[in-house]
Amino acid sequence: MGGVRVGIGDDSLGVSEYIGPMFGTWRDKAIRWIPSTCVVCHAWPSNRICEHCVQDFAQPVHRCSRCALALADGEVVCASCAHHPPVWDCALTAVDYAFPWSRLVTDFKFRENPAWARHFATLMRSTPWIEPSLESADHVIPMPLATERFKQRGFNQAALLSRQLCPAKNCEGILLRVLNTPAQHTLDRKDRQANVMRAYALEPQHATRVANKRIVLIDDVMTSGASMAAATAVLKLAGAHHITVMVFARTPRAADLA
Ligand SMILES: [Zn+2]
Ligand SMILES: [Zn+2]
Repeated sequence: MGGVRVGIGDDSLGVSEYIGPMFGTWRDKAIRWIPSTCVVCHAWPSNRICEHCVQDFAQPVHRCSRCALALADGEVVCASCAHHPPVWDCALTAVDYAFPWSRLVTDFKFRENPAWARHFATLMRSTPWIEPSLESADHVIPMPLATERFKQRGFNQAALLSRQLCPAKNCEGILLRVLNTPAQHTLDRKDRQANVMRAYALEPQHATRVANKRIVLIDDVMTSGASMAAATAVLKLAGAHHITVMVFARTPRAADLA
């Protein structure tokens, strides 16, 4: 696979780290007209993430086709997936959930900076197999957010990504989060699986739309995969033919909560 050379945005952010948190919302508005630096290496002037940092940190990695963890060249499926395949059919990620992407995802999700969706989607589209998977999909469905969390954040980061990735096939409102459960990142692996059981359902009026269809399920990050597994199980139960889980960042094996 060739190297990744994509332009990651033309608006600014990096200077926010120098201005400091005291300016709050004013800072977030002000940085839109301050000349831009790369948020990673602080090169100036630059796109939001400079080309060199994309080259350094977003090179395509050979991954297991079922869990998207890094894999030795020549292998298709890791030993873990060979013995216990996940409920979905294919998993794809743009990057590992590691520096600098973990920090930028935090900015995206927890510091309420939804502009990152466009940049992450650009990187995702440059990742091998993501474009063809989107093209062959019937529906692209973002992981739904619990109502309480949506109210707190004001947006669903998975839906923002899905709209950027494939607006023509983006389907919101089919897959529902029916229980408000503790945030996954606050739990260990065992509790994550219990946490998401029965947390998802299909909107009854639209449930038949997934039967015999190829579905791409979108989220920003996958760690244990428990949430996406629960959602996949609901879609498969409704007759979905093929599920690809697609995320911007995948927690690497060493840092997984297994
Ligand atoms: Zn840079
Ligand atoms: Zn695997």
